[in-house]
Amino acid sequence: MKTYNCPACERSTLSFWRVQFLGPLRSIRCDACGARVSVPWLLSSLFGLLATGAAWVGGLAGIVVCASSNLVSGSTLAVAALLGAVVVTAPVLWLYGRVLYLVVK
Ligand SMILES: [Zn+2]
Repeated sequence: MKTYNCPACERSTLSFWRVQFLGPLRSIRCDACGARVSVPWLLSSLFGLLATGAAWVGGLAGIVVCASSNLVSGSTLAVAALLGAVVVTAPVLWLYGRVLYLVVK
């Protein structure tokens, strides 16, 4: 599993999952040097908006595809919306993981 380097001491001490749940208002402590580490406000906010928009677009696309193929029962539409949202949002989250960098708070 990928780990992230602490921006203060440069050691690879921050686990993938701890970093995934970081937001601009939240910070975690580096196990090696004790520095408080977070994500940049603008970058994480931008990707938050982008992921939300992608989920809506993907969900609506799933509903439209499902409805156009005459599969219009409630549970089928819900599953299609969920699948569409996941499929469209996944690349945005992948890209966020690639461009994300950490900052000392
Ligand atoms: Zn550190």
